[in-house]
Amino acid sequence: MSGIVVAIDGPAGAGKSTTARKVADVLGYLYLDTGAMYRAVGHRALADGVDPDDASRTGKIARTLEITFEPGDPRQRVRVDGEDMTDEIRSAAVSDAASWVSSHESVRVTLVKRQQALGVEGGVVVEGRDTTTVVFPTAELKIFLEASVEARAERRVADLAERGENLSVDEVRRQIRERDERDRATQLRVGPWPSPEATRLDTTGLTIDQQVERVVALARERGA
Ligand code: C5P
Repeated sequence: MSGIVVAIDGPAGAGKSTTARKVADVLGYLYLDTGAMYRAVGHRALADGVDPDDASRTGKIARTLEITFEPGDPRQRVRVDGEDMTDEIRSAAVSDAASWVSSHESVRVTLVKRQQALGVEGGVVVEGRDTTTVVFPTAELKIFLEASVEARAERRVADLAERGENLSVDEVRRQIRERDERDRATQLRVGPWPSPEATRLDTTGLTIDQQVERVVALARERGA
């Protein structure tokens, strides 16, 4: 049996990545981190001195970059043109560049096609903004994770601190608000957001294990 498609969507810092990764582990599914692909393009743009707001040049990067995922512990490894970029693509600068490049149709068209090819057989937990609407509109389970801006900022600060980047909650809250606005504008252009069919799950007071349990239970109900 190849399994169902579980698509997880939501704003930055709602716990999408951790939840999706753990749900995939429990179900024995492939974890498809679509944000990592936008991050890889943003990272390459910065490295090559390309303006992330340049639709044509970032579109070309998206078409030519080789992005692959490999199992890894605790997080899966992301290879870009053969080089391990797992940690580099998580920096605050790359988060910002990724948000810019993801606003270009030229970039989205290419990455969406690649994501669909990776999930075509089912048995996948796919995570990212347009996964419930554009990438896998027929996903058996669609989840929209939400959390207060405050909770999201605190999680993000802890995440960055673990990577040795020390930012204040105030600064991160401001970044999250700005990204939210830009991301929302992009999402509304590519489809309804959140998907009216998605099950909304507010994670503000939940632990990661509780989030995972709820999503797995819903996935089992849908045949996983
Ligand atoms: O989810 P993550 O923070 O890794 O995503 C990085 C950036 O890529 C975000 O700004 C997000 O808007 C964008 N993105 C997107 N579509 C996706 C996944 C991510 O536009 N499917």
